Amino acid sequence: MFWADELIKKIIKERKLDGYLVTDEKTPSGRVHVGALEGVLYHSTIARSLEKSGKKTVFQYGFDDYDPMDSLPIYIPKEYEKYMGIPLSEIPAPDGKGSFANYFADEFIEVINSLGIEPKIVYTSKMYKQGEFNQSIKIALNKANIVREIYKNIANQDRPYDWFPIQMICEKCHKIGTTRAYAWDGEKVSYECGENWVKYTQGCGHKGELSPLNGNSKLPWKVEWAAKWSIWKSDVEGAGKDHMTKNGSHDIASEIARQVYGIKTPEKFRYEFFLVGGKKMSSSKGLGNSAREVSEVLPAELLKYLIVRSNPKIQLNFNLDGKTISQLYNDFDRAHTQYITDPKSDEAKIYEYSKISQEVPEYLMRFSKIVSYIQISYLDIEKEAEKEKGSKLTEVDKKDLANRIKYARIYLEKFASEDEKFEIQKEIPKVKLNDSQKKLLEKIADLVARESEPEIIHNYIYETGKVLGLKPKETFETIYQIFLNKTSGPKAGWFLANLDKNFVFKRIKEASK
Ligand SMILES: [Zn+2]
Repeated sequence: MFWADELIKKIIKERKLDGYLVTDEKTPSGRVHVGALEGVLYHSTIARSLEKSGKKTVFQYGFDDYDPMDSLPIYIPKEYEKYMGIPLSEIPAPDGKGSFANYFADEFIEVINSLGIEPKIVYTSKMYKQGEFNQSIKIALNKANIVREIYKNIANQDRPYDWFPIQMICEKCHKIGTTRAYAWDGEKVSYECGENWVKYTQGCGHKGELSPLNGNSKLPWKVEWAAKWSIWKSDVEGAGKDHMTKNGSHDIASEIARQVYGIKTPEKFRYEFFLVGGKKMSSSKGLGNSAREVSEVLPAELLKYLIVRSNPKIQLNFNLDGKTISQLYNDFDRAHTQYITDPKSDEAKIYEYSKISQEVPEYLMRFSKIVSYIQISYLDIEKEAEKEKGSKLTEVDKKDLANRIKYARIYLEKFASEDEKFEIQKEIPKVKLNDSQKKLLEKIADLVARESEPEIIHNYIYETGKVLGLKPKETFETIYQIFLNKTSGPKAGWFLANLDKNFVFKRIKEASK
């Protein structure tokens, strides 16, 4: 069973609602790496699956932009050190336009929109400033003793009696990461901006007394997590496995949700890390490929397919290399075929959830073929596609083909192996062939010049070489040498089948002499 269907079955059985709110969020602390798409895609797939089963569903994506900057990504200038500890929404953007948080949130929104996902977007900074957290802040402060107990009971963390679950924004230095609240009188919070309380920055030492409402403060993140669930009335929200360990942050937030806010934790699910090249990525440190980088080399549908097909319970490891990319195209094409021939199958469903537009092409050209074709300059790829399809291409087929050609060019430049790259030699290269190789050419010339079925050509060359006592490597080297001046290249039968017949015949004849 497709993982999303399995999950929503459980959710519906558990909640029995007519409508659902699926929420997910992220701190926009830097360029968003491709792994962060996991959360978005898992949540949006669940939302779509709920919707398809007749439940009205909203997918909401939140940016935790009132979080302080607590590390500096490597691509951010050193002068940003001075902003450490300040909320991300209050720090200027690297390009000087808008805020640091918006700069990276916008980049991320652009990527997720390109995947055909358009969640309702919310920002915690706005929620705090507009007073949406006011009630939750008061409750947390009034029940500070319960919050302390929860930390103690679940995580065995001691919070002193004068610790309060609130982070005030220092009126003097505007930092939020450095303050500690020590009293609450029902209206105002007394706090101190500590000089050495956090490792990443220094506070100013200011002591103040201030209302925590309307953006003057922020809840610590585990309390904030629970508060958000209660404000939004989230029904479903999963998290990465780092938050889902026993007695970890999700357990703490769930207890706060129950005991402090009196609500039930949204239906949860846990997802494994998405590794690239075996490495975990971090947006705050700037490690790993950004979502935008990957979306520039991989069509959106494939990037989406890569994640949608992976069960959240299983670790996803993706290598951004030629072999993996080619394989991904082949798998995607198979899912497309299934969608057409067996629409009820799991693979068909995965295809359906991965596609971005409503339109479905009737025909997809194999990616490896396109990579070869774009290197044969005179070839009309659309014509070849029609030949292969056996009928005229639809407008959707054409659009898809054009898109694949675009990405094949990028692939050829960035990922193709030496074997996949070639240049047809206009003049016969100066190569030395032995007698058996010359004989091979003599024998295959006629067939190759009239046959258009790649497999027949390929097998014929192979068999002829065998009869002549040539090793397969020697046999095919002969072809590569006389056409490409290389000892390796694309699969010979397919390659020759797509070259001009006269040219092929003349070249083989000439070389066999
Ligand atoms: Zn301060």
